[in-house]
Amino acid sequence: MSNVRTGIGMTSARTRGRMVERLREQGISDTLVLAAMGTVPRHLFVDEALASRAYEDTALPIGFGQTISNPYIVARMTELARNGRSLKRVLEVGTGCGYQAAVLAQVAREVVSIERIASLVGQTRRRQRELRLNNIRLKHGDGLQGYAEGAPYDAIVVAAAFGAVPEVLKMQLAEGGRLVMPLGDDNQVLLVLTRQGNQFHEERLEAVKFVPLLPGVS
Ligand code: SAH
Repeated sequence: MSNVRTGIGMTSARTRGRMVERLREQGISDTLVLAAMGTVPRHLFVDEALASRAYEDTALPIGFGQTISNPYIVARMTELARNGRSLKRVLEVGTGCGYQAAVLAQVAREVVSIERIASLVGQTRRRQRELRLNNIRLKHGDGLQGYAEGAPYDAIVVAAAFGAVPEVLKMQLAEGGRLVMPLGDDNQVLLVLTRQGNQFHEERLEAVKFVPLLPGVS
């Protein structure tokens, strides 16, 4: 690791502490989620040129026209997915740089994460190895199909917006499992779906802004 990287490392724990305080003020109350946000080195998930801005409450570009979600939305979706439960297996659709997956990996036994852009998968896989995030299985594929081999999931987190909840994903939820996703195109809301047998209870929460979920791989 370069000195520059190390220098950021020395101050980042304090900066993360301030970020966690801010998340608390913004209403995140799950202590396990706050601890995860305080642990994962967010600055190592963005380009070095942007590392000094990594703890700001903002989305940042990660290349390929994609963004790393802002810290609040990552914490919020993780809290909603967990809902106070201990999680065994979690599916994430839309890995991007792998930050949300790394946070989920702190609160779940195993995370399966799918990304459609091959170059992002390669980059993120290297990063996960460096950070020894050994309980994340990264897959290159179309998340609209979910990942049946790993199902059922206690939680599914979709990090890109879509006009409807994909039926395939609903069927990969475990009993009592929760799916969290941005629903809509231009006007998006955060949706939480809870499975009870073959019934799905739906809650619509705050307005959000995500990149679109696209079919197929690239
Ligand atoms: N989870 C990321 C957010 C990434 S942005 C974070 O921690 O910040 C959303 C990602 O979803 C992009 O990388 C995009 O390529 C990916 N994506 C879009 N449609 C997809 C699909 N059908 N399957 C898998 N990934 C998809």
